[in-house]
This record gives sequence, C-alpha cells and structure tokens, in this order.
Amino acid sequence: MRTIRTVHELREVLAPARPAGRSIGLVPTMGFLHDGHIALLRRAREQCDVVVVSLFVNPAQFGPGEDLEAYPRDEARDAALAEAEGVDVLFAPPAEEVYPPGFGTSVTVAALTEVLDGAPEQRGSEHFAGVTTVVTKLLSMAGPDVAYFGQKDAQQALVIRKLVRDLDIPVRIEVCPTVRDPDGLALSSRNAYLSPAERDRALGLSRALRAAEAEVAAGRLDAAGVLSAARAQLDAHGIDPEYLELRSAADLSPADRVNGSTLLAVAARVGRARLIDNTILGGTT
Ligand code: AMP
Repeated sequence: MRTIRTVHELREVLAPARPAGRSIGLVPTMGFLHDGHIALLRRAREQCDVVVVSLFVNPAQFGPGEDLEAYPRDEARDAALAEAEGVDVLFAPPAEEVYPPGFGTSVTVAALTEVLDGAPEQRGSEHFAGVTTVVTKLLSMAGPDVAYFGQKDAQQALVIRKLVRDLDIPVRIEVCPTVRDPDGLALSSRNAYLSPAERDRALGLSRALRAAEAEVAAGRLDAAGVLSAARAQLDAHGIDPEYLELRSAADLSPADRVNGSTLLAVAARVGRARLIDNTILGGTT
C-alpha cells in the first residue's frame, strides 16, 4: 500500500490503471477507521482492481463550535487497517493540498440539503456544501469508477447520488448497509467520545429505530404511532433528540405514513457526541 499526500502523485499512481482496463474504487473517509469503513473497503476490494481510501478530516463540513479539532485521528492505525484489507492507495492530503490559499469554489446541491442535518437549527446546508465540495474534488482527483458510501449517513448518500447525476460525474455510487456493534449501536468515529454510561444511553437511538420497525411490522403505519414508539425508547434512555423524522427515502419530503420506502432518521447529542442513525421502514400503503 502506498501513502500519498498530493493530488499530483495520486494522479500519477492511478494514471496507468485506466488504459490497462483496471477499475478504480474510492472510499472517502475522515479516518479513525472502524468496521463500518472496513465494510466499504471490503466491498471496494471485491469489486475493483485498484482500491483507494482517502483520509481527510474536511474542515469545510464542520460548523463553528463543532468538533473539528477534537475529531479523533490516528493515521498509523488507519494505515495498518487499510493495508490488512488489501487497499492499494491511502490518500491522506494535508488541508492545504485540498484547500490551497485562494481556494474559492463551492459545490452545492440545492435539493435535499435544507432538512434533517441540513436544517438551519441543525448543521445547516453549509455542512452539505462542505461535503459536496470535497466529494466533487475527491472524485475529480481520483477519477474512480465506483465510490463507496454508507447508509449510516443516509441523507449524505442521497445528496451525493444527486450531485453526480446533476453534474454528470462518471462514477457509480455504491451505498453499503450500516454496520453496528452487536448491541445495535451504529459504528461511528464519534463513538470514541462516549463514556461507558453515555454509550449505554446512546443505545436509545438504535432501540428507537427497532421500536419503530416493530410498529410497522404490527401494521401500524401512521407517522404519529411510529414516531411515538420511537420516542418512548429515546425517553427511556434519557435522550432528547435534535430531530426524529419520518421522510420519503427518495426525496426526503415529509411522510405522514410509512409507505414502503420511508426513512426514519434520528440525531441526538449524547455527552460530547452528536450521533445520527436511521432505518428504512417497509410496509404497504
Ligand atoms: P466518515 O469517516 O464518518 O465520514 O465516514 C466515511 C464513510 O463511511 C461514509 O460514507 C459513511 O457513511 C460511512 N460509514 C460511517 N459509519 C458507518 C457505519 N457504521 N456503517 C456503514 N458505513 C459507515
């Protein structure tokens, strides 16, 4: 595995792949790899000839007062994990390589970015502008055939699908299922912030989603019932969510009923960590 820090070197290393008919898979991450990231690396390794993982804690997607400085980092550990998964290239550019002095372009997706995490009282649509700008740059730098994202960030995955469709970026976006600890907690680099007691409370998020799934399985499809079942679990864990919403899984429009492709998304602060989780609820109309 090669560790690369500049766009120039990344292009140089990947240049021979395309004429040789070798496919390139890109897994963008902010590092501090866990089994959710590893699942993306494995999918990429199965499907592509050359696997690139990027490690970049992207300042542009952090708002003022968010955890940019505190965000956990351990490149040596990430490199060992990536190498063990057969990754070919670890791309870990410094911030100045991605945002050199004078950088002044932003890529924004107008649809999908003003609700849930993009709502003004949440992270705001600027968060997604930071994400879509850096993802556009990473796609442009690596020119992958396939880029891998996690369903854990369901809204981000939708926004990125829209980005590549709207800008005709020639890449296939593959979204992989959320990886969880055996007790249900969705893996996140931010789980590192949780004390043991906070980790127990954080289980309220996934339990709320499971309670909502049970409602739907029992045939109760109206939003009020589904949301109150979820909220009861949050309450039981002492969690006051930043949002708990049922929306169309296709376009994030509000849903007053589960209709087979309905996203239940939750965000909550537990101690220092802002955690998100979601599930797609099935059922018939
Ligand atoms: P991050 O490093 O948190 O920006 O995540 C990098 C990629 O890994 C994103 O596409 C995430 O959606 C994905 N990811 C993060 N956590 C998980 C998880 N628990 N299961 C599956 N994918 C995940």
